[in-house]
Amino acid sequence: MRRIEGSGSGWPRLKSHAKFVTIIKTDFLIIGAGIVGFAVARELRRRDPGCSVRMLEKESSAGRHASGRNSGILHAGFYYSEDSLKARFTREGNRRMRAFCAEHKLPVMACGKLVLANCEQQIAGLEELFRRAARNGIEANLITETEARELEPRARTTGKALWSPTTSSVNPRDFMQALENELAAARVQIDKGVRYVSGGNALVESSKGRYSAGHLVNAAGLYADRIAHGLGFGLRYRLVPFKGLYLYANPRIGSFRRHLYPVPNLNNPFLGVHFTLTSDNRVKIGPTAIPALWREQYGGLHGFSLKECGEALLNNTALFFKDPRGYRNLAVQEIRKSFRKAMVDEASRMASNVDDSMFSSWGPPGIRAQLLDIASRTLVGDFVVEGDADSTHVLNAVSPAFTCAFPFADYVVDRIAGMRHKVE
Ligand SMILES: Cc1cc2nc3c(=O)[nH]c(=O)nc-3n(C[C@H](O)[C@H](O)[C@H](O)COP(=O)(O)OP(=O)(O)OC[C@H]3O[C@@H](n4cnc5c(N)ncnc54)[C@H](O)[C@@H]3O)c2cc1C
Repeated sequence: MRRIEGSGSGWPRLKSHAKFVTIIKTDFLIIGAGIVGFAVARELRRRDPGCSVRMLEKESSAGRHASGRNSGILHAGFYYSEDSLKARFTREGNRRMRAFCAEHKLPVMACGKLVLANCEQQIAGLEELFRRAARNGIEANLITETEARELEPRARTTGKALWSPTTSSVNPRDFMQALENELAAARVQIDKGVRYVSGGNALVESSKGRYSAGHLVNAAGLYADRIAHGLGFGLRYRLVPFKGLYLYANPRIGSFRRHLYPVPNLNNPFLGVHFTLTSDNRVKIGPTAIPALWREQYGGLHGFSLKECGEALLNNTALFFKDPRGYRNLAVQEIRKSFRKAMVDEASRMASNVDDSMFSSWGPPGIRAQLLDIASRTLVGDFVVEGDADSTHVLNAVSPAFTCAFPFADYVVDRIAGMRHKVE
């Protein structure tokens, strides 16, 4: 992208240089109408209502990938080490998401969550989460088994549990729709069914024509690494997709009062199959974290790409043999969970009176845009943002990027302002 010209308002204005009338000009061009792209667009408009913000979305509607296919949990923020961006944004993100829901009258299941230990050895894991909660300024309590059952009579735990009162859930699709309505009112143009193809020298080639942008923001989720590589960023990373399957309970499940989570293995970025109480009072279990063979492998041959399949096989084989942080065991365990019975068995460790006859319908799966650091051959834990005065690339926007979206967007926009300031 070309160096941005300054404007009186302190934000970039595009200097007209286009030779062809067919080029669409904009101050900011955001690739990807997921929660991250939306939150960044909102923040750019909030800071300067006079700047032009345009978005490209390859699908015919927004939120068709991770942002509309997740657990909808507004996390509290106790999983993450205090030096991480995730720790920095989750608490505030949770608060701001709930405020947005209140403002837009979106239902929130504010039932809190219990993290449960399935054996004595896992109590150390609960204690570590409790320490992280304290360091991150998150409200959480270590409680006894009896107290856990007072909060959720069906909870099964060994000795202790961690209680998080602020963990909530929302319907991510409704949330995305409300945010899209807000952006439309703020005159953010979303060009749907338009795919980013390539970029450079302030010009972007799309599947439906050219754009000239003052600054490009890459929030393309499962394809963010590709776009970043094309502009010379994120070269030490490759994306490895992981598929999350969900099973919905039928009415025989009976009542549940809280979200129930297992103690996670903090060596890997996934939280384990959990019970989510949805904002419309349903119960679902999941998601799995099964290595996917291509980036949009939702079902059947949808989105099949031979090239992506080759990459996924190569990356997974290397991870399997090098076995960083117990990857081999993780992959085997997760692949097992593609079978309904194995997934329900896993969940039934956390709650009494659960069997596989209670879970008969698979919900829409989601795929995580997980980065692999190719030098260390490890899965990257935290969010990654790279870029310069011309473009910004949001990489590894994995969970809890939905919860974090608003403060994360502030950070991205501050970064853009800082980069621009440097070149002035
Ligand atoms: C199974 C699962 C469960 C999760 N659970 C939670 C949770 O409970 N709580 C939480 O906080 N987070 C959760 N997450 C994480 C959260 O959903 C993601 O971090 C977040 O949605 C990422 O948003 P995004 O905007 O970066 O990506 P996306 O939502 O994937 O959006 C990227 C968009 O870019 C578009 N795009 C891609 N390439 C191009 C191109 N070339 N041209 C134009 N457009 C393009 C895509 O079509 C897509 O719409 C979960 C994720 C998954 C997969």
